[in-house]
Amino acid sequence: MSMPETAEAGDIGREMHRLIGELYPICRSITGDGVRQTLGIVQRHIPLTVHEVPSGTPVFDWTVPPEWNIRDAYVKNSRGERVIDFQALNLHVVNYSRPVRATMSLDELRPHLFSEPAHPDWVPYRTTYYQDSWGFCLSDRQLTSLPDDRYEVFIDSTVADGSLTYGECVVQGSGDGDILVSCHVCHPSLANDNLSGIAAAIQLVRRLLERQPRHTFRFIFIPGTIGSITWLALNEDKLATIRHGLVAVNLGDSGPMHYKKSRQGAAEIDQVVEYVLAGQGRPYTLLEFEPYGYDERQFCSPGINLPVGCLMRTPHGRFPEYHTSADNLDLVQPAFLEQSLETFWTVFQVLESNRRYVNLLPKCEPQLGKRGLYDAIGGRSDAKQRQMAMLWVLNFSDGDHSVLDIARRSGLDAAVISDAAVTLLEHDLLAVCDDGGLTSTVRRGGSPA
Ligand code: ZN
Repeated sequence: MSMPETAEAGDIGREMHRLIGELYPICRSITGDGVRQTLGIVQRHIPLTVHEVPSGTPVFDWTVPPEWNIRDAYVKNSRGERVIDFQALNLHVVNYSRPVRATMSLDELRPHLFSEPAHPDWVPYRTTYYQDSWGFCLSDRQLTSLPDDRYEVFIDSTVADGSLTYGECVVQGSGDGDILVSCHVCHPSLANDNLSGIAAAIQLVRRLLERQPRHTFRFIFIPGTIGSITWLALNEDKLATIRHGLVAVNLGDSGPMHYKKSRQGAAEIDQVVEYVLAGQGRPYTLLEFEPYGYDERQFCSPGINLPVGCLMRTPHGRFPEYHTSADNLDLVQPAFLEQSLETFWTVFQVLESNRRYVNLLPKCEPQLGKRGLYDAIGGRSDAKQRQMAMLWVLNFSDGDHSVLDIARRSGLDAAVISDAAVTLLEHDLLAVCDDGGLTSTVRRGGSPA
């Protein structure tokens, strides 16, 4: 990880951090009441539809698993003291542990205990979703100092028919293309890897609801892997309208922004995110697609092949606190949450404005003066730049070049190019020409089944 960035925290960053603090203690998993409780809190902030998919439902090559719930768990020593206590930290229980009640020696218990020697004070996060087993996680310091004793082991959990729960929030747009944003809701007390994405998604929905976006924005709050597989299997009929997508994760740590490109690699979303990151004047890293990581693995599987990238700060596994008790409320900071939110928002704005236009008077320059177009910008301090933007837009609005193309070619900001285009559109010098443009070119290369 490179040098930590610095940023100023504003009210929104602090609000995001407060929400993460509220969600942090809940014991989430890929199914169960922890997810329901989490989505219930999200529902207090945005209109969210909660879906329940019954255990046993086939979803492509997978099956929705039985539902896991847990009430209590501990390891007690012979004096009756809880030496490992789920109530103190839910990471202490291996997620999806099957129920157990037994008394055993340290040697018998040891195969069920997990620690991370590289960070002896941290408790690791472990799961056993698809294996019929149980276990406890603890700091290596505690593990190596556990005395021989008779230990009472108790996990009050259930694995039973139930459902997989996920949430969906659709902000209807005026056009016909969709933007998919996904975040996962399956990790227990882990702040950056999980809760930071939820906090950002909520803020983005709230902003979008105050506007009339062109795209329809589809936010999904899903358990990792099985959640995206389930959503894709149940929504195959909706995939054809998805034009762009982002997985939102790890948005609160101090590392620079990273963008993992979609499988398509040069889709419009890939170009827009790269343009936005390059324009922010802060360090960032672009990563090529690989079939590992977060739910982009499913969105970018070959039979789905949606243009979905992953926009994050530090990627999974590259910050030492990853999947440990140190991914907590201190690791995620309001200033970085807010900065990540603004990056997503800028990406949305560029996607919203990234249209193609066609010049309706392409033979020589149209006379801007007689249409009052010089007057319209004359008094502004950036009048020269805006005039240049009009000339660029008029010249390259041939149906082939998007706002982003013209911005990159001219060196002018995409927002300035878009404003110029809208002004020219209002003066009947341009027409919108979105069809046959970049989006459909990219989609021809890999449209969903
Ligand atoms: Zn994770």
